[in-house]
Amino acid sequence: MSASIIGTASLFAELGYQDTPKLPGVPYVVHDGKRPQPRVLETAGAVVIKAPADAVVLFDGSNLDAWTSGGDKPAWEIKDGAMVAKDKDLTSKQSFGAIQLHFEWKLPAGRPVNGQGGGNSGVFLMGLYEVQVLQSHNNPTYPDGQAGSLYGQLPPLVNATSPQGEWNSYDVAFEPPVYKDGKVETPAKITIIHNGVVVQHGESYLGPTAHKSLASYPASHPETAPLSLQFHGDPVEYRNFWVRPLGKRDQEK
Ligand code: MG
Repeated sequence: MSASIIGTASLFAELGYQDTPKLPGVPYVVHDGKRPQPRVLETAGAVVIKAPADAVVLFDGSNLDAWTSGGDKPAWEIKDGAMVAKDKDLTSKQSFGAIQLHFEWKLPAGRPVNGQGGGNSGVFLMGLYEVQVLQSHNNPTYPDGQAGSLYGQLPPLVNATSPQGEWNSYDVAFEPPVYKDGKVETPAKITIIHNGVVVQHGESYLGPTAHKSLASYPASHPETAPLSLQFHGDPVEYRNFWVRPLGKRDQEK
């Protein structure tokens, strides 16, 4: 069926769901296909930043020593200086709380994509909070599932995705939630810069990432946890992956 013989509204509805829970504060449901599509913004592509001296380098192109797959050796492969998603998720050996994160990602040219299929991965901060990685150039999907979204919660401000086959960069600043007396006092917060463009600006997570359901915070929460990279069936590539744990100012320690 071509887009010309079905209405635009029904086309967008088919991109997502209408039978999912309503999100708080907006007239949309989780993965709402009718939620407005982020404006497409052309950029100069990935902003490559070399790891600063105090960074924890999790992948520099040479080996997967910083990672496991479920406690076993990492399932992903290294190809041309990039790590390529394969078979299982990848989990960092080291745990992190508040961090600055940089990495670059791409989907190889020529692989067919269709919405959430074909070019899907993601970085789960603390293993819980997904920063969505999706080949979203000329590939419409529900807006809270596209590149730069907080999956199932919040679309990016704009769609800054590079053409398929070209590198994207993400620069992220993340803070875990703060609990007090067994309740969430401050939610997890995130800023995401995609190809040099702010796409999430000090936004709050509703809770750990969920699919087709409303995210909510658990009764208790670790202070630090490993981060994980999603294997969603697609050979998404990552390179130049580094983290800077964020703490207090030295003079305030
Ligand atoms: Mg994903």
